[in-house]
Amino acid sequence: MTTIRAKVIPEPAEGTRPVLIRQNQDGPLIQDEGDLTYLCGLCGFALLKDVEKSHVFIDIVFKCPCCDLFNEISSTGE
Ligand SMILES: [Zn+2]
Repeated sequence: MTTIRAKVIPEPAEGTRPVLIRQNQDGPLIQDEGDLTYLCGLCGFALLKDVEKSHVFIDIVFKCPCCDLFNEISSTGE
C-alpha cells in the first residue's frame, strides 16, 4: 500500500481539464482494488483509494469534497 499526497492547484479554467466532483456519496471519489491511495494535498482526505497506478488519472482534476480545493496527481508522484 502506497499513500501519495496529491497537489493542490487553482481551479482550472472551464473546459480545459476534466474535473471529477463527488456527487452524493461519503467515500473516496474513486475506489478500486489496487495498492495506491491519493490524499488531498491540503486536508488529507482520501480522494482515490486503492487504485491501480494509471496514467488515466494524470489529466483529471479532483475536487476534494472535504475542503473544496482542486487536486491533481502529478505524473512524477510515485
Ligand atoms: Zn481536501
